[in-house]
Amino acid sequence: IQNLSKTYQSGGNTLTVLDDINFAIEAGSTMAIVGPSGSGKTTLLGLCAGLDRSSSGIVELNHIRLDNLNEDQRAHVRNQHVGFIFQNFQLLPTLTALENVMVPLELRGEKHIRPRAEALLEKVGLADRGHHYPSQLSGGEQQRVSLARAFSNSPKILFADEPTGNLDAETSEKVVKLLFDLNREAGTTLVLVTHDLELASKTQRIIRIKGGSLISDELTNTQNLNHAGA
Ligand code: ATP
Repeated sequence: IQNLSKTYQSGGNTLTVLDDINFAIEAGSTMAIVGPSGSGKTTLLGLCAGLDRSSSGIVELNHIRLDNLNEDQRAHVRNQHVGFIFQNFQLLPTLTALENVMVPLELRGEKHIRPRAEALLEKVGLADRGHHYPSQLSGGEQQRVSLARAFSNSPKILFADEPTGNLDAETSEKVVKLLFDLNREAGTTLVLVTHDLELASKTQRIIRIKGGSLISDELTNTQNLNHAGA
């Protein structure tokens, strides 16, 4: 991303949420975005993933310029390349866990989607919960369905907004292991927003956002990566 800014208009005032952000994410790497509440982390993640559009600046994903695209075109790029885990899961309430995981596969026009979705649910330890609706699942289970859904299009890059927020220690450990396994086994680039500095330190690089500006960009001890899923 280059010279990325995001502003909102409210009550005649311009609110600058992100101001002239620059960085590049290396394919296959792991990275965490940290910073105080309200600093712009979720907004930044959404812009990088093509969920939202920048006010100015360039966003390029896998050599595709996102900032020039309309919503439909960005949705197409997301279906092809991006997995996104939302802070509040955003499962579709009228679909079962299995159907939620099938949605991205359907959108890509793939075949044999039911067995593939079942295999993904099994991978996240929810083989026996496929027929449950989101309201019939615990927070941790919903988060794991959300992970299975994010994995389902074999994304080149996975963005996760507070993937362990609100999870107990044991579930959190399982979720973190799934994320880092995906990075190691499939080479999926992993970008996390987190308040958990221990989780952030397991990635290869931490960028800090404060008041909408990037205030630091540091490599961590990459040895940690090898222990992340251990
Ligand atoms: P948290 O850690 O609490 O999740 P964050 O760092 O992810 O916070 P963002 O959700 O990116 O922060 O929000 C950054 C700022 O942008 C906040 O001050 C928020 O109120 C503002 N903001 C976000 N969305 C909008 C919107 N649609 N309209 C106006 N302001 C917005």
